[in-house]
This record gives sequence, structure tokens and C-alpha cells, in this order.
Amino acid sequence: MGLLSEGSPLSWPETKRLAPHVQRHGIEQFINQFRRLKERRGDSLKWGDEVEYMVLRLNREARTARLSLRSPELLDQLQATERQDPSAAPSLWRPEYGAYMVEGTPGQPYGSIVSFFNTVESNMRARRREVEAILQPDEILLSITSFPRLGCGVFTDPPCYPTPTAGSSQSLFIPEEVIFPAHPRFATLTRNIRERRGKKVAINMPILVDERTPRPFIEDLSQYGDDGRSQRAALPDHVYMDAMAFGMGCSCLQITFQAENLLEARRLYDQLNPLCPILLALTAASPVHRGHLLDTDCRWDVIAMSCDCRTDQERGLEPLTTERFVIPKSRYGSTDSYISECGRPYNDVKLVMDEELHARLREGGIDDLLAAHVAHLFVREPISLFSEKIEQDDSVDMDHFENIQSTNWQTMRFKPPPAGSNIGWRVEFRPCEVQLTDFENAAFVCFVVLLTRVILSYKLNFLIPISKVDENMKRAHRKDAVLREKFWFRSDFLCDGSPSMDAEQEYSELTINEIFNGKGDEFPGLVPLVSHYLNAINIDADTRCTTGQYLQLMRRRASGELQTTARWMREFIAGHADYQRDSVVPESTAFDLMVACHEVTTGRRPAPALLGGLGTSRTENHLPAAIHRTPSLYKQDAQT
Ligand code: ADP
Ligand code: MG
Ligand code: MG
Repeated sequence: MGLLSEGSPLSWPETKRLAPHVQRHGIEQFINQFRRLKERRGDSLKWGDEVEYMVLRLNREARTARLSLRSPELLDQLQATERQDPSAAPSLWRPEYGAYMVEGTPGQPYGSIVSFFNTVESNMRARRREVEAILQPDEILLSITSFPRLGCGVFTDPPCYPTPTAGSSQSLFIPEEVIFPAHPRFATLTRNIRERRGKKVAINMPILVDERTPRPFIEDLSQYGDDGRSQRAALPDHVYMDAMAFGMGCSCLQITFQAENLLEARRLYDQLNPLCPILLALTAASPVHRGHLLDTDCRWDVIAMSCDCRTDQERGLEPLTTERFVIPKSRYGSTDSYISECGRPYNDVKLVMDEELHARLREGGIDDLLAAHVAHLFVREPISLFSEKIEQDDSVDMDHFENIQSTNWQTMRFKPPPAGSNIGWRVEFRPCEVQLTDFENAAFVCFVVLLTRVILSYKLNFLIPISKVDENMKRAHRKDAVLREKFWFRSDFLCDGSPSMDAEQEYSELTINEIFNGKGDEFPGLVPLVSHYLNAINIDADTRCTTGQYLQLMRRRASGELQTTARWMREFIAGHADYQRDSVVPESTAFDLMVACHEVTTGRRPAPALLGGLGTSRTENHLPAAIHRTPSLYKQDAQT
């Protein structure tokens, strides 16, 4: 989850005192790096995925599935090869927020050769096997977005208990041991977000109202040791959660791309932005939080509220007296502006920023769009700081910049080249929920990579006003958004970027099915566009077969012929004998759901409603031996 500085974390008051120092120097560091590398060109397309996993321990007699808090020792083993020789590691492993989570990425990023599409799934499978090989017999590895019983009674192994008056989150539901213990970053973020905010975080998600759900749904939180403060923060007919773990303890699927140069990175950042809510809706996989079925299908808002360090003044609930700004969103949120020239006309949301930092960026030679983007990120204070990192050399270090950049958890991230590396300008696509199978995860990753190629090759323009992207984020969360919602989408996508005379005509409301599969003469659909591109670059038979399966998955999920993971989970729960139609997911139901998920992941359980018989072949896919003779994804290869 971003920058992992080593050292001793400072207290919140100390961090707060040093905030202006970190902000000022972070800006200088960005300016220096920008000046050094703004003309950097000729980087090839490289890309990679990040998959986050959870480790569970099953007790088949008691029928319980609990989170196994062993990721520190698992990571120690998983990172052994990398410690000896980073270039020899088949996968790279990193800690995540939960002590039951691990994050895996390919050992090396993939390159621009089309055949890499043919290796992603087997790479993911090998990654999964690496972990599975060191699990204990009753442990399983799942790529689920939210653990359904997180925060419900005893849900960890070993059993741990919440401490509502002590620890970093002071949660009624989450024991301190749930937070990854081997690096201080995670507990420090948790404590500092709470201290900065001046109270615990409050996550309220609408409950799914089922036949026997009490109305209004109001929990008595005193049973968990609440002193009244949580009760006041909890909304009726909502599931209330009170800790960062409820959000950051979710898993996701992310994709990073290296661009040829700065301009291309800015363009990709912008063009992928409107696609974030669309892909969030299609990957929806988290209908259950804190043991309750929700009326929403996605994790995003849960995480946003779980990391909301804004004070009451900053949230606009009290007049500004001691704070400087009202800030509309949590630091975990969707992006607020476009950064390419093409995006300029669509920046219709006023960015909150520190004018002095903004002026310094402009004076340092940063153009207005990028200066506004960075100054807006820097409206946040550092939320964790390590004493060893306070004094830095702004001409070479980037830690202060990264400190604030990496705690702005947005749907897209614009990543300047890291200090002292040979990496180019990159963008990260962050909205997707993680899927159960390697097949599905590979499909979404490859689809998004292909979309970037289509956008660049055919010079497509998907921009809509940023306020409409925000509106789409809201719609994406709703239960069965794929089937029921319409999304603002630009169907006039073939223009060169200059807004047409009649901006209102450029975009309209389309269903996910129309966006992916097309709508008459209005829009050909993302899947046909990608298909067309694949035909144009003349790929080998293996890759054609693999990408064909991936496109089928997109097509059929978008049309509703196949279910989203969220819908599949809902139906499993609704059909379970122990589910009482009261929105509560009992431990036995959660156990059977977790076992079923594992069986789907391993291919032992057919899930036709989810997978439709796609991707069931377990044969290894591979790079052809004659890799240099296969076509590459460079734009010039596409005959447009
Ligand atoms: P994060 O900021 O999310 O922690 P990392 O820097 O760890 O990201 O990189 C995560 C992803 O970026 C991985 O999927 C990795 O394969 C990919 N990656 C690494 N190097 C490059 C590169 N030069 N270009 C594009 N992607 C890369
Ligand atoms: Mg991560
Ligand atoms: Mg990432």
C-alpha cells in the first residue's frame, strides 16, 4: 500500500508540527524531479498487476472460516528469493494493511510484446501456488475483496479481541492484532488518521433490507463496549463500522503502466479516469461487510470513509476557525481533475489547494494543470512520518513527495519516476475489485491494458466532466449497478480532444452493456473496439485464443449473461439454509461461502453463472520461444 519507509514513527502532534516542512520540501522534490525528467522519452510500454490475497484458516468441524494472522511469517518466507537476488524472484511480495493479507506482483513487469497477455494468468497462478505451498493444511488463500465476517465477534486465528479504549483504532470490533504488525506504517496511519480527525472514523453503509431485516435497523452498540460516541456516529438503516481495517483490510486489483513519455502518461491518466467507475461496477465483488449484506456491491466508499482524516471543520460541519480548508472528499477518493490539455475543458470541479504551494509549483516551471493536481494532493497533511526521514536532500530524494502522494489513495495515480531509478512516467489504475479466479483477474488486467493501447492507437477520447465521473462513482456502488444503472459516457469518442461546439451532445447515459457491447450507431462498444485493435495488430494464435476468452468474459459480464462476483455471492447467501433473511450473514453461511469461493478459485466447483465455462482450461500458458518475432503493442503496429 505505497511507500514503506523504515524507522521510528513520530506521534501525531509531532507529525502535524512538521507537516508544513514535509509539504514544502515535497513540492521542491517534485519540481526537481519534474525538471530533471520532463523531457525523458522513449520508455517502452511496461506494465504489471498487483493482486491482494487473504489467508484464512478453516475449521471444518466447527464450520468456521477465520482470518489467519500469519502474513508476517509468510512474507518472510515469500521474500527469501528476492532478498538474495531481486532479479531472480518469480514474484514480488509485499505486506498489506491486514495481518492476514499479502500482495503479489510479477517478478518483472510485463513488456510490450502481445504474447505477454498469454502469460498473465499463469503468472498469477504461479504466484498463488507460491503462497499455497507454505500454508498450513487447514489454511486457504483467497482473492476476495472483503472478508464477510471482518469485525464480527471472534474472526481471527489466533482469537483476538477488540480494545475499544486502547490501541491505534480503538474499535468496538477490530482487534489491534488485525493490523500488519511487522511494519509500523499501518498502525501509525490508523492512529494518526483517528487523532487528526479528532475521533474514530465512522463508516456507514446502507444495509440491504431483506424480508426480516428489523426496521429501522439500529444496533445497540453498548453491547460492544461503546460509551455512546459510536452510537451517535451510527446512522439508522446503515451498517456501522469504526476502523481503518474495514476499508484498508479489503483487497483489490491494480494495474500500473509505464508511458513512453510525460505527455502520454498524462493522457492515459485522463483517459482512464472516466473508465474507473465503469470497471468498478463490472468488477463489483464486496456485498458483505461486518457480517451484513449491504445495499451496495463495491468496497470503494467503505475505504474512503475508513481513511477519512478530515476534521469536522474540513468536512464542512463546523465553521472554519482553526483549519484552513473545507475539503470535499476523504484522502481515499476518486480523482478530482484531469491533467492533460485535452482534459482542461472538463475540469468542472473547483480544486481546493494551498495557494502558496501552487504558486511555488508554477514558479518552479510546472504548468497550471499539473501544478493544480499536485497542489490539490498537497492539501493533505502527511499522516505518518518517520524521524529518520525528516531531513532530506531535495535535489535527489523524493520521500516527502511520496509521503503525501502515496497517502492520496485515488482511483488513478500519476506516478513520476521514482528517485534514483531507471523507471519512466507511469500511471496506476486502482478501482478494480479483485476476482476469485486467476482467469478473471488476468482478464480484467489484460482488458485494461488493451484499452490503453486502443486509446493511444486510435486517439480515442473518453473524457466527460469530472463531476460526471463523480456521479458515476456513486452509481457504480449500487447493488447490481451493471444491470440497473446508467452511466455518463462519451460516445462521441473519435474526436481529437477539442470539445465540440455542443458539449452536452458529447456524452449521454449508457448502460454497462451498451458501454462494453455497443449501442447501435451511437457507440461501437469497448469490447468491439479492443477486438478491432487485436485484429489490426495481427496476433499469434495462442494470444488470440487467450484474449478471446478475456473479451468474452467482459462481454458476457457486461450484458448480464454472467453474474458479477457480488451477485454470485448474494445468491449463494440467499440460498443458504442458515441465512434468516435478516441481512445478517451467520458464521456457518460465511464458512460455506468461503469454501465455495475456494472451490471456484481452484476449479473444483463449476460456477457457470459466474464464469460461463470460460477459462476453465488449466493448461499453462506461456511465452512462445520465438518471442522476438511476435508483434508488439506499439501504436505504429496498429493499422488504423
Ligand atoms: P505501488 O505504488 O502500487 O506500490 P509499485 O511501484 O510497487 O506500485 O509497482 C506496482 C506495479 O508496477 C507492479 O505490478 C509492477 O509489476 C509494476 N511495475 C514495476 N516496474 C514498472 C515499470 N517500469 N513500468 C510499469 N510498471 C511497472
Ligand atoms: Mg496494495
Ligand atoms: Mg498499487
